[in-house]
This record gives sequence, structure tokens and C-alpha cells, in this order.
Amino acid sequence: MAITPMMQQYLTIKEEHKDAILFFRLGDFYEMFFEDAVLTSRELELTLTGKDCGLAERAPMCGVPYHAVDTYLGRLIQKGYKVAICEQMTDPDGKGLVERAVTRVVTPGTVIEQSMLEDREPSYILCLSIKGDRAGAAFCDLSTGEFWVYPIASIKNRLAEELSRLNPRELLVASRAQLMGISAQIGCPVTEGNPGSFVYKNALAALNAHFAALETGSPGLKGEKLLVEAAGALMRYLTDTQKNALGHILKIKRFESARYMTIDRAASTSLELVEAGRARTRKGSLLWTLDKTVTAMGGRMLRSWIEQPLLDKAEIEARLDAVAHLKGNAIGAESLREQLRGVYDVERLLSRIAYDSVTPRECLSLARSLSAVPYVKDLLRDMDAGALSAVDALLDPMEALVALLDRAISPDAPVSVKEGGIFRAGYEERLDRLRSAATDGKNWIAQLEQQERDETGIKNLKIGFNRVFGYYIEVTRSFYDLVPYRYVRKQTLAGCERFVTQELKEIEKTVLGADDQAMRLEYELFSAIRARLKEALPGLQATAQGLKTLDALLSLAQAALENDYVRPDIHEDGPIEIEDGRHPVVEQAIGRERFVPNDTRITDESRLMIITGPNMAGKSTYMRQVALIALMAQVGSFVPARTARLPIVDRIFTRIGASDDLYGGQSTFMVEMTEMANILKHMTDRSLLILDEVGRGTSTFDGLSIAWAAVEHIAGKRAKTLFATHYHELSELEGRLDGVANYRITAREQGEDVIFLRKIVPGGADRSFGVAVASLAGLPSSLIARARQIMARLEVEGELGGSIGRSILDKRKNAGDRQIRLNDYGAAELAEELKKVDVMALTPVDALNMLYTLVEKARRV
Ligand code: ADP
Repeated sequence: MAITPMMQQYLTIKEEHKDAILFFRLGDFYEMFFEDAVLTSRELELTLTGKDCGLAERAPMCGVPYHAVDTYLGRLIQKGYKVAICEQMTDPDGKGLVERAVTRVVTPGTVIEQSMLEDREPSYILCLSIKGDRAGAAFCDLSTGEFWVYPIASIKNRLAEELSRLNPRELLVASRAQLMGISAQIGCPVTEGNPGSFVYKNALAALNAHFAALETGSPGLKGEKLLVEAAGALMRYLTDTQKNALGHILKIKRFESARYMTIDRAASTSLELVEAGRARTRKGSLLWTLDKTVTAMGGRMLRSWIEQPLLDKAEIEARLDAVAHLKGNAIGAESLREQLRGVYDVERLLSRIAYDSVTPRECLSLARSLSAVPYVKDLLRDMDAGALSAVDALLDPMEALVALLDRAISPDAPVSVKEGGIFRAGYEERLDRLRSAATDGKNWIAQLEQQERDETGIKNLKIGFNRVFGYYIEVTRSFYDLVPYRYVRKQTLAGCERFVTQELKEIEKTVLGADDQAMRLEYELFSAIRARLKEALPGLQATAQGLKTLDALLSLAQAALENDYVRPDIHEDGPIEIEDGRHPVVEQAIGRERFVPNDTRITDESRLMIITGPNMAGKSTYMRQVALIALMAQVGSFVPARTARLPIVDRIFTRIGASDDLYGGQSTFMVEMTEMANILKHMTDRSLLILDEVGRGTSTFDGLSIAWAAVEHIAGKRAKTLFATHYHELSELEGRLDGVANYRITAREQGEDVIFLRKIVPGGADRSFGVAVASLAGLPSSLIARARQIMARLEVEGELGGSIGRSILDKRKNAGDRQIRLNDYGAAELAEELKKVDVMALTPVDALNMLYTLVEKARRV
């Protein structure tokens, strides 16, 4: 038995795309066969059928309709699969085999379909050329054509951060084996590229081929071996999968990591920069507070600014100047925003232009977007401030292109390019002529129908149309007698017969011919428009860049206005001095009037703030507020404070909350210590550290000792540090260690309750409010009363208030002070036990028993 020719064709094509699912176009469907069919039917819950393929057994088959392909494609890509799209290259003529070829391989990192992308997030594919611990990195957002390269000095130390920053959708390497030992950090599908494409000579050739064709010359990386290899291999992979449609990758930019503050995953998560909470929603993040952008591309720009704060003073000031100007010129700013509201995601249109898949309707959006540019430029003329001047230089109104689109494209243009109706009347005379021939023809047919009815007396005579027979006259059975001789019978159906006449045939020729020709002509004319758009790519890209920057700057100005932010006073170094600082997100959540502002002064003498205060006092909020203010300033944003004098910090490190780190299967304490190790290794005297409850995840003594030693270590390195702790004992360090200063967030006990004042003041906490907070939380009052008793006794017996620290210092000399150690240990243990009690789940008897045990334990302490 021989396999059918079509199956043979399928197998040949499939052979070249073994690592992808092959979508094989058959008329109105994409069909999958064999293993691909089994896999796809399972993943997409499609019905698995079979097709005769010439072999004894039918080939497993499933399919999706072509017009809904994006949805299915999206779901497969999301799951990390690649899909090769195989199209029919010739029209079926009923005789031979239709020619077919793969026109594109869609992979997770090369998606450009709007429906599969997040509007306000970039979508990167990252390629690494790895040599030992070093690597060249190239990354590209194919939907916009941005392409960057940069070196990574140490894969071991830096890769996790780079992956967290870029969040790539796909990672391309020469061989998976190179990722041994680091694969756990990679959260995206990994593709092995063609190893030859990573060879320097080939990589350089691939780059030169692309950029020479664009006539922009070679990208000037020659000699930088790893960078060329990464960029060349990526370019080759993109060419192989996208089949040359890469005209929108206009240049390779160097990503200068030294320009930006490094923000690792821990900092980004705990400061909730772009996502907040466990559900990782946008709402509640810093981005959410600052994002007043009106275009999707502006939204992406602002997001990247927040994820990459600047380090260069001049660059920061340029953004601040622009924001200040826009904030001070509310009317001008609103007019600019108004113009931007009509602007479409031009940046992502670039890929569609490069792919020749831009639709007539998108041309309308483009024309509308571009027609805003002259107004924008006009408004900017009087706003030559900081980063705004660069914006103006990027904007190109492209009047000729806009005029062409306005003149050509009909306001009712369709999405499809094959069905006509794209062009305005008057745009092209040939088209107008064909169109009126077609319309006239249709009128003639209507006239003819009437005329035939009158002549024959067949009242219900009808002229109809179908694809096989063309136009016909239809007569029902009861009128057969009246059919004249000149009618030629074409088809007999159950209740009627169909005829043609000489005259009808002639009209048909005009109508069909004209319609057909008109559509063909429209397609041709539209192809010319697409080609014209391709030529405009460089100008469009610059303009998109300008518009999105403007949108992001306007957004910062608007946020500053709405939320009453001030311009920070930036210095290369020196102290952090904030008056009436606020947490930008918490103040939104609880209302500005309920938020208690606080001052911050971190000078060389008080560079390490030890912050104590009861749970819920506001320690974490305060510390994050300082970090966010520093970060916002370096983004170029105004800040929530009355005044702020800020040095440029090189990095913000955070170590916050033991509970939210249950990833990677490590114990929380292990995670905490790993993060601490990382911070201690990388911090400099220009870093800002936010440390919350270091040493909490282990026993009291261990924890206190580690926290203590950490404070000593950090103070020696001069990094600016906010260190919140429930170990009051650390207050002992003020005065003993250079640069350490005590603060506490105040609360007042009123009767049995605590009132949180949320004010930070100098000085260490002298007591804990744990019992009062436990009471607030609803522990039984008898238990609380007993706890107060115990506490009173502990304080008297061990003279605990603030003295444990001293006793630890003493303990270095006198290692066996059993009395105090037991007191401290026992009390902490008791507190731990109390914390675990789930009061609501206890039966009265259980509660009594538990109270009994606790009291017994307390007595033993
Ligand atoms: P801690 O870290 O001391 O346990 P948090 O910083 O988590 O306390 O703050 C607890 C709650 O108190 C926050 O959810 C917030 O709503 C509120 N809060 C914190 N700081 C302030 C403030 N300055 N003004 C008003 N409310 C605040």
C-alpha cells in the first residue's frame, strides 16, 4: 500500500519541523496528524478523528478552523509549545497537489499577535552565548522590533537577576547542557538553537546579512565575540522561524546595565513594584499608583522605567525637569494627553508592518495616531524642558504618509484585504471604473429580472447566483409551461428548474469580471501601501519612541499632581532627609487623610536605623516607604513627601517577611539566610538596605545572635540601612557601634488596648506590646490576664526590660547564666505556643486543657 501524495507532502514538511506542532492548512482548516494530532487534541480538548492516508490504519487527525486559529495557537504557545504554520501556496485547481510551505514558526518568544500579548508588558526572547561563567546576551521584543545586547560578567552571580528583570518568554542557547546547575532559575521554555549559528563567523555573517539588507550597515559589534555570537544566533533563529519578515529590527542597541539600578527579584517582589500581593495583581503596586498613561506603549515604557531606575544624575534631572514642567503646566499637559488618547499602539504595529500583515483598518488607526503628531509638536514647542526636548526631536509627523492614507483608505475599511472595500472612491480611477461596472451590472440584473417576469408572465421568476453555475433564472414547477424557448436549461432541482439566457450570460461576464478585477486591483493597491509603510518604519519607530516617552512623562506629572508629590532634591551622595514622607500605595489604600507621615534622616552618624515597635505598628510600611521614595526619585518621579533630599543609591536590597518566601522547596530560614548572604556580598556604601525581622525563622537565641552580628557587619560597610526587629536587645548597640541609631514606632496602651500612633521617634522600645496585640486579636481574656501576670513576673525576676542584650554581652565573659537564659527562652517559647493557638477551632474543653498546660509551663519558667 502506498501513502497518499498529500500525506507524503505532510511527512516531508514535518521532517523539517520536528520540534514544532505542524498546523497543516487544508482548505478552511489547519489539520494536525499523527503524534501532533494526539498531543493537540489532548491539550486543546479537540476531537480526535482519523484520515485515510493510504496505509492500513487511518492517520489520527484533529483540526481547528483557520479563522479562529489565534485562540488555539495562543493556548499552545502559552503551554510552551512551538507551532509551525503551513499554508497553501497555490489555489486548489482540483487537479494536482496544492503547493504548501511553512510560512512561520510561532514560538513562545516570537509571538506578535495582539491577542496573545499583554498590552502593557514587553515580550522578550533572550539568547545567551555562554563561555565558562561569562555570557553574551541578546534580547528582542519581536512585537516592536527592539533588539539589545550586553555582556553578563558572571552567569552564576547575575543570571537570576537578569531573568527576573527581563522575564523572557523563551531562552535560546546553543545547548541545554550549558545551563546545568542554573536551570532551576529559568522560568521559561528553553530552545536549543542551531549550534553552528553560535559560531562567531556565522553569527557575524547573519548580522551583516540582515543589516546590510536594511542598508543601515553592520551594527558595530565586530570583535566583541560573545555579543556577536548571541546577537547573530538570535537573528538567525528569528530569520529561520519568521521567514525573513524582520524589517522592523532596525538597529542593535547596547543595553548599558551600568546605567540602571539593579533590582533583584526579592526587592521587586517585596517592594511590590509592578505586581502586588500573593495574587500578583497590578492593583496595589507602585506601577498602579503611578500609571496614568493613556496608551499601551506608554504603559510599557513606564513599567520599564520603574523596573530600571536610573543612576546618572543628569538623566534623572532631565526626567524631573520634564515632569516639573508638565506638572506646572496642567492645561498644556491635559492637551497633550488629549492628543495621545487617540494614539494607537503604533509600536506594536511595527511588527505587523514588517510582516506584511497590517490590515486596512490598522492603517486608519495609524493615520489617526500620526495626525496627532503635529499638534503634539506644536504644544511641545513652548515646553523645552529636560527630557521633553528629546521627545520633540523623535517625533516625525510624516505628513505625506498621513495624506496618502487619508486619501486612500475608506473610513469603513474592513480587516480583511481579500474582499475589497478598502479604498475610497476617487483614489484610483481604474478601481472606480471597475466598481461602477460591477454595480451597474447588478442593477441590470435587477432590471432583467423584472423584464423577464413581465415578458413571460412568471410572477415568481427569480434571478439567483451560485458559485458553480453563476447567475441563473429560477422557475418553479407550476410555471414550467410558461418557460420560453430562448431559456437554456442548466439544472433541475426538486421543485424548480434553473435556466440561463444569452443576455444573462453577458451581464454576468461584466459583473463577475468587474468584481473580481476590482478585488484583485484593491489587493495590489493595498500591497503598494504596505510597501510604502515598510519604507516608513524608521520614522515610525522613532515617533513611537517619542510618543511613549511623552506618555510616561505625562503620567508621572499627573500622578505628582493628583497625589501631591514634590520634586526630590537629588545629590550624588550625602544623607537621606525626608520630611513628612508617605507610602505611595498605602496612602492610596487607606486614604491620604488617615495616613500618618513620617520623617527620615539617615546621615553618616545614623546610617543604620534599628527600628522597634509592636507588631502592626507600621514598621514595614515605614521602611518600604523610604525605599520607594528613593526608587521613585531615580525613576524621575516626584515623591510623596513635603521635602526630600536624596543621594543616588546604587542598589536597594530588601529582606522582608519570612512567610511569603515558600518557593524552591527551601526552608524559610534557609531562604532568609541565602538572601542575607547575597545582600552582604553585594552591598556597597551607596546601597540602601531594608531588613525586616532578620533572624526570625530560627530559635530566639540563634536569631538574636545572627541579627546582632549582621548589624555589626553592615554598620562596618556604611550602607544606609533600615533594620526592623522585635529583638529589643539590639537597642543596646546604639552608642556601642558607630553609625547605629535607635528608633521606635510609637503606640500607646489605653486600658487593655493599644492605640497605634504610627509616628517614628528616636529611642529604642522598652517594652513589647505583644500581649496587648494578642488581646486585640481576640485571645480569651483569662489567658491574656494570665499572660500579663507572667510578664510582670518575668520583668521583675529577670529585670528583663532591655537587659537581655547586656546580659548577652556579659555572657561572652560568663557563659553559664542559666537563670536569665531560661527566662528568656521560656518566655519566647510560651509566646510561640500562644501564637499557634487557633482560638476559633478550640472546643471549650480543649481550651481549658490548653490553658492549664500553658499556665503550668508559665509557672515553670
Ligand atoms: P509592622 O511591620 O510594624 O507589623 P505594618 O507596616 O505592616 O506594621 O503596618 C500595619 C498596618 O498599619 C498597615 O497595613 C497600614 O494599613 C497601617 N499603617 C502603617 N503605617 C501607617 C501610617 N504611617 N499611617 C497610617 N497607617 C499606617
